Amino acid sequence: MFDSLSEKLESAFKQLKGEGRISEINVATTIKEIRRALIDADVNYKIAKEFTDKVKDKALGEKVLTSISPGQLMVKIVKDELTDLMGGTEADFDISQRPTIVLIAGLQGSGKTTFSGKLANFLKTKKGKKPLLVAADIYRPAAINQLQVLGEQVKVPVYAEVENKNAVEIARNAVEHAKKEGHNVIIIDTAGRLAIDEEMMQEVANVKNAVNPHEVLFVVDSMTGQDAVNTAKSFNDRLDFTGVVLTKLDGDTRGGAALTIKYTVNKPIKFVSMGEKLDTLDTFYPERMAQRILGMGDITTLVERAQAQFDEAQAKKIEKKIRANKFDFEDFKEQLQQIKKMGNIKDLLGMIPGVGKAIKDIDISDDAFKGIEAMINSMTPFERSNPDAIDTNRRKRIAKGSGKDIAEVNAFMKQFDQMRQMMGQMNKLKGMGMPGMGMP
Ligand code: GDP
Repeated sequence: MFDSLSEKLESAFKQLKGEGRISEINVATTIKEIRRALIDADVNYKIAKEFTDKVKDKALGEKVLTSISPGQLMVKIVKDELTDLMGGTEADFDISQRPTIVLIAGLQGSGKTTFSGKLANFLKTKKGKKPLLVAADIYRPAAINQLQVLGEQVKVPVYAEVENKNAVEIARNAVEHAKKEGHNVIIIDTAGRLAIDEEMMQEVANVKNAVNPHEVLFVVDSMTGQDAVNTAKSFNDRLDFTGVVLTKLDGDTRGGAALTIKYTVNKPIKFVSMGEKLDTLDTFYPERMAQRILGMGDITTLVERAQAQFDEAQAKKIEKKIRANKFDFEDFKEQLQQIKKMGNIKDLLGMIPGVGKAIKDIDISDDAFKGIEAMINSMTPFERSNPDAIDTNRRKRIAKGSGKDIAEVNAFMKQFDQMRQMMGQMNKLKGMGMPGMGMP
């Protein structure tokens, strides 16, 4: 996610390598590079400039702290500003009403229907709700069908009136139906068009006025960059939505939409959707996103996902070991097995500080995993818990046992070592209230 932006920012920070302190002169190149990185990520010039002006002011206004380098200080400032730009703290998603009505709007293909399924699943499994999905797309019978298929997958009933061509009526009827059936959340998936279109806007606005939803979520495909931001603006002018859902963050997204939607429409991003698996919906946390952009990983989300899928004690144990810098091959193997079950492997590994960068160009298929597992399986228990003790002879034996050549074993050892180094740096910087990264 946002690989190119992350790389460019890192290279900007490297400009400060070797500098003893931040000054007007040495900060100029860094600031310029940060601005360029943002613009390349599809952030508009005005926002990028405002952003870097703030970063510059803060950097020059900072007291010189001898304990951290200018590079690290800059990372911290940029992290705080990115967090701010994306909304500061996570936004509330209010489902306290009985029933809570959630209206889903957006262009066709943005991922509305997929998100509706994910949200239903999220509310059911994570929040203990009894949701009802409503198909209010009266133009495409296929859309109704799609929602029904998703509903079946997540075991949430779907309300549809195939013959009815009045979306307002369907929505009203659905609310009545939900009340009768004791559903406490109603998720209404509305019709989208390929582009902004007056008739569609009017229809969604009519549905909104008819059922008075508590939440109106605007779904937008993050791959569309500035277009996403412009579409959000048009929808917001018309619908005054309560929040944004960014989809397809698993794709090759540059980041512009995530970074600037909040600024542009002054509505928070509430959820991010990555991938088509229905159990992978994440609440949007600006700070965690900022950390990921800066290559700091996102241990919090990783641990949460692990906890959701597995037992809490185990997830806590791993987090503790990472924090104590005692993460070994046994833990790594355990993690691989868990991660495999969770799907979207590359995304999950990217949440471990330093790993995202290390695996950026690697195509992670199950086969790639098999090789790593074979190598770990060929280690003795002693070797697994003492990675540093694995010398050349041991490596040769591991290579033989796993059917790999020695170069592959060496490369894996090196990657593992780099990962542990990143974890170590993170721990060192913990006192500053920020996870660390490989900074000068
Ligand atoms: P709608 O027309 O707005 O309802 O969009 P759909 O939910 O039908 O999604 C359009 C396409 O995008 C489908 O092929 C989905 O499988 C895909 N899609 C939806 N959400 C995501 C996501 O988060 N990541 C990826 N990679 N694909 C997605």
